[in-house]
Parts: sequence; C-alpha cells; structure tokens
Amino acid sequence: MTSTKGPMPNSFDPARAGALEPRLGRLIERRRTLLGPGYKLFYEVPIELVRAEGVHVYDADGAQYLDAYNNVPCVGHCNPRVADAIDRQTRTLNTNTRYAAEPILDYAERLLATHAEALGNVMFTCSGSEAIDLSLRIARYATAAQGVVVTANAYHGISTAAAEISPSLGPNVPLARHVRTVPAPSVAADGTVGRDLAENVSRAIEDLERHGIGFAAFVADSLFASDGLVPDPAGFLGPVIDVVHQAGGLCIADEVQAGFGRTGEAMWGYQRHQIAPDLVPMGKPMGNGMPIGGVAARPELIERFGNDIRYFNTFGGNSVSIAAASAVLDVIEQDGLIENARAVGGYLGDGLMTVAGSYPQLQSVRGAGLFLAADLANPETGDPDGEMAARVVNGLRERRVLISAAGPDANTLKIRPPLPFAKADADRLLTELELVLGRVAAPKSC
Ligand code: PMP
Repeated sequence: MTSTKGPMPNSFDPARAGALEPRLGRLIERRRTLLGPGYKLFYEVPIELVRAEGVHVYDADGAQYLDAYNNVPCVGHCNPRVADAIDRQTRTLNTNTRYAAEPILDYAERLLATHAEALGNVMFTCSGSEAIDLSLRIARYATAAQGVVVTANAYHGISTAAAEISPSLGPNVPLARHVRTVPAPSVAADGTVGRDLAENVSRAIEDLERHGIGFAAFVADSLFASDGLVPDPAGFLGPVIDVVHQAGGLCIADEVQAGFGRTGEAMWGYQRHQIAPDLVPMGKPMGNGMPIGGVAARPELIERFGNDIRYFNTFGGNSVSIAAASAVLDVIEQDGLIENARAVGGYLGDGLMTVAGSYPQLQSVRGAGLFLAADLANPETGDPDGEMAARVVNGLRERRVLISAAGPDANTLKIRPPLPFAKADADRLLTELELVLGRVAAPKSC
C-alpha cells in the first residue's frame, strides 16, 4: 500500500530532526549524512531499535513495543529455532548452488509440497524483487512476448523490471511501454468481489496485442496489498487465469506478501482462489529476515529457460539461507501458525469491527488472517482522512503499539504482525486503538 500521491505514508519528515531528543536527532542526522535521503524512517518520532523477541521490539531506552506491523519475522523476531539453524549452518558450510548438497533439495521438496501440484520446480533468489524479475524473464522467454498486465496500484519490487510494473511507485517511476494496468478488484453493489477483473484483463491483453507488444503475463499480489487489500470473498482469480491462458500468457501469483500462512487459510494466498498459477515469486517471510526468495514454477517453463539461459545467482539458495528457510517451515508447522493466523486474525478483525461500531470514522475493516486493514474517513462525506490515520498511527506508536498507514490516500491502517501474535496481543492493540481514537476522533453519538 504505497502512496501514489504525497510522500510515503507514515514517513518521518527529516526537517524535524532538530526537534527530536538530542541523541535521536544526532543519529538521524548521521544517517542522512552517510546513507543519503533514500532511506525513509517511520513515525513522527522515529524509533531506534536495539533488540527484539517474538512479537516485541525494544528501543534504546529498553522500552518494549508491540510489533503489529512486521511480516518479515513471520515466526517471531529472533526466533531461537531459526537463529540456532543459522548459527549451526554458518559454522558448517555456506556455499552456492555450483556444488551438490542435500539440504537445498530437502527444502525444495518440502516447499513444493505446499504448492499446487503443477508447480514442480523451484529456483532461489535473495529477495522478492529478484523473484519477480526471474519470473518475468521465464515468462517472457516462454511466450516470446514482453507485455505484462498488473493492477492499478500494484507494487512488485525495486529492480528495473519490477519497478516498471509497479504503478504504486508513482509518477517519478514511469511504467514501461509494455505494461498495462487494470483497476484493482472491487466490491459490487451486490457484494460480489472482482467481477470485472477478467474482462478488464482481457481488454488490456487485446490492447497489448493491438500495439504489437504481445502478452507474456498477468502479475498479481494474491492479497492485492498495495491496492488497499481487496476484501473477501476470494475466488475471483479463477476466471482471470482462464482469460490469461486462452491468450497464451502466464499467470504470476506474487506471494511475497500473502505467502507462508499469512492469510490463515492456506500456505499461499492463491490457494484461497482455487487456482494453480504458472509462476509463484516468494520472499519476505521466507527466511524470517535472512535474505531469501524464490520462484516456484511449472517444470516445463524452467526446463526451457534453465537449458537455454545461464542463470547463476551467487547468494540465491546459499546454505545458510536454506537452513533459515527450513527452520521457518518447521516453526510454521510445529507451532500451528497458519491456524493461529486464522484464529487471532479473526478475533482481531471482530475487535476492529466493534471499535468501528463506536467510531464511525473507522470504516471498511477487511483482511485475511493476520493481514488486516481499516480506513479512516469522514463519516458524513466518506472522504479519506489521511491526517487522522497519521494521528492514530503516531498515537499508537506513543502507546508503544506499532502499525502503519498505507494506501493511495494514506488513510488506511495496515496491521500485519508476526504470525505468533496472540489474542492477548490483539487485546492490547484494540485497547490502545480505542484510547487513541478517543483522543483524535469524536465517538458515535447515541
Ligand atoms: N512483491 C510484493 C507484493 C511486495 O510487497 C514486495 C516488497 N514489499 C516485493 C514484491 C519486493 O520484495 P523485496 O523488497 O524483498 O525485493
């Protein structure tokens, strides 16, 4: 949910560094001097983190915060089982895929077993952007076409190829000429979701063909996170995949956000739509913070690409990242984290609805599992209220609960905690949210 308008939602204004407590102010000035302006900080008063554990992070003064935002440490910050696996592997062997080794095969087998049966190969990368990049290369090689269709506020990453299919990066990052956008799936008056998507994709494909570009792939984040988190019911990607295949293109399900159990219903977001995509880029939570991504794919696609193209990724699939990723799968399975995401996500969603019942500014509570969103808007006009969202996010930060704001109008509260989030953590978030809303928004008059 990246902004298409102003600065990044919930970003610190560097002009305010002088107004901060001196130590933090100096740290931020130094960061600006050394790293340049590209690195944005969250919150009006940024947080200096020094350690973390489970669903908590700790600042330089030792204060504890509830992390309801970070999806990368999916099995909990500094998970000891992942840390032990990394430690053991760094002391044993860390090498690349030029040498034969068993652990990468054991991991590939386990990972592929969680995917649709048609996805029989996996290739490894270091990030989600690289996984998107590789998926595009494979799709273009297979189809001998360049055209890509994405949703209107999609985000797929930072490499050249990923950025040029990411409209949410805004006007300073132009879309490539071979890219067409379709409106994000929306809710119709009768409550159905995404009804027009297949037809819109079909029209975009026709346009690519008419311009002689040809059609390679439809790429979609299975949760449509940067498009504002499309509400349920899922299932609307079925007709889209048919349209894509009829046109000779491939379907790329970007699971960088939705994957690894986040939705509480399945390991992969696409499984909620009962589809089998052709290529599935993965990343973010895959190594609980170790840089690892990958692409699960139909073997016939990899067969041609792998035979004809030399693809060696120095760090992709290295022994230590694989050890971390294997431990992540262990923890997800052993601790029942998909079930936890469903139970606690449902509980938190219900709680948000209850709060919204008292504060009419809080609207459109939606989400799947432990990826939840709600909008702040003027109750009379329905106009998005990004300023109020900023006050809520910063008010919660003051109360040591971390969420963020997102969406084209920066008015969406984005809640996406590590998967071991417990009901007690949800209660803490809800209590603090009510308290903060009580300060910044007028309650519903009865
Ligand atoms: N796709 C989606 C849907 C993402 O959210 C992201 C990262 N936010 C990426 C791709 C790129 O992943 P990375 O930042 O690891 O390159």
